[in-house]
Amino acid sequence: MNTILIDGKWLKAASGETIDVIDPCNGEAYASIDRGAAADIDLAVNAAQRALDGAWGKLTATERGRILMRFADLITENQGELAQIEAKDTGKPISTARNDIIAAARYFEYYGAAADKVHGQTIPYLEGYNVSVVRVPHGVTAHIIPWNYPAQMFGRSLAPALAMGNAAVLKPSEDACMSTLLLGKLLIDAGLPPGALNIVTGYGYEAGAALTAHPGINFATFTGSPEVGALVQESTAKNHVPCALELGGKSPQVVFNDADLQKAAPVIVKAIVQNAGQTCAAGSRVLVQKDIFDKFMAIVVDYFKETVVGVPQMDLDCGPIINKKQFNRVSSFIDEVKASGVPVLAEGSFAAGVPRNGYFIKPVLFGPVPRDNRLAGDEVFGPVLAAIPFDDEEDAIRLANATEYGLTAAVWTENGSRQSCVASRILSGQVFINCYGAGGGVELPFGGFKKSGHGREKGFLALEEMSTTKTIVQHYK
Ligand code: NAD
Repeated sequence: MNTILIDGKWLKAASGETIDVIDPCNGEAYASIDRGAAADIDLAVNAAQRALDGAWGKLTATERGRILMRFADLITENQGELAQIEAKDTGKPISTARNDIIAAARYFEYYGAAADKVHGQTIPYLEGYNVSVVRVPHGVTAHIIPWNYPAQMFGRSLAPALAMGNAAVLKPSEDACMSTLLLGKLLIDAGLPPGALNIVTGYGYEAGAALTAHPGINFATFTGSPEVGALVQESTAKNHVPCALELGGKSPQVVFNDADLQKAAPVIVKAIVQNAGQTCAAGSRVLVQKDIFDKFMAIVVDYFKETVVGVPQMDLDCGPIINKKQFNRVSSFIDEVKASGVPVLAEGSFAAGVPRNGYFIKPVLFGPVPRDNRLAGDEVFGPVLAAIPFDDEEDAIRLANATEYGLTAAVWTENGSRQSCVASRILSGQVFINCYGAGGGVELPFGGFKKSGHGREKGFLALEEMSTTKTIVQHYK
């Protein structure tokens, strides 16, 4: 199967080379993808530009929206197959994969319906002048997405871009991209003109780097590691194009002594164990008021011990880590924290029959974690929760803000004024009050402060991100 989509056709890489696709549940290759690089990126960017100059660029916003909504229906019709592919590729539980596919469809439904609802402005100006400010697409947009939520990221990144009329080049992750290939096919089946979406599979340092440096792109959006995010920012700066970066976090769940502890505990455990902790917005720190630390952690421990890791069809709390490199990274991080003497409060378990050669890791709850321990500030990107006690509101806010990240946070308290005060002072792109993730709805703008990145995805703000403005001044007398 060819995996590079350019101008509506599925091609091999110009080099003829391929990359093995590994099943994280057993470490074995089960498929291959084409190893696209600079030559393929060049063809893809040129095809996108032709689409803008041709059929795609001539569609009205309503027509673009209809294609995206038809595509949403096709995703829904094919959700069973898409979920199986996603689960096999990432190792995540099958019901989680199903939810991811439903979310992907929802992105196209939402942005398809929004495509013709983006209005401009008129501005009062000098006598005899009409001034309008219209929203226009960037042009050719570059999309580099990670392996943790391939189908969801396909929707999150591409749906607003296509709704605004950009032509896109997608570089999915070499570690998990199989669902994005079927999604690409279904989008063409829905009527997307050739070249409006091009997909180049391949390694980040080859295809991804060539894409962000290509002089034909007008905008780039990237989700992944802070290290690669810096490379993308550097490359797009040299290329004089804007970029949006979504880079991860060390998100705090702040639990005060008046919180509903029974309600908070299972949500907090799920927020770190889900997707084996491989979520940018994973709630990886639980900050607990000192006088309830032992009482609350006892409840959390009970939930944590019940977490079970298995293969997708067992449909348990989480699956394996994505690949050997990440498995080694997360395992050695855990070993280092254990060796530094931080107590392990609880661990999850493996289901019977979990393959020994897979990249499975038991969820671990550490606490109390000293504030100067590496675990208090560094992102693990695995199922590892750090519990840290705090004294009072002031201390909680200081601690919540004491990392380089600022993506998501939660405040658990029944005190309304404290809810507002803490939410307003936490440096984070999202703050949840007495909930976490809250369904992660497409309607809710999402993005980071500090090292978590910049730019906003989701909600109507994504349509602004995926477009720019043009001011038109008409002199009429
Ligand atoms: P990564 O940043 O290397 O990969 C993300 C995407 O960027 C992939 O598609 C990859 O091919 C591409 N890429 C890699 N190098 C590139 C380059 N030079 N130019 C352009 N694109 C490039 O992430 P990883 O190595 O797979 O995972 C490592 C760490 O990244 C994780 O431990 C985690 O901290 C972070 N991460 C974050 C997210 C997130 O959702 N924010 C997702 C995946 C990984």
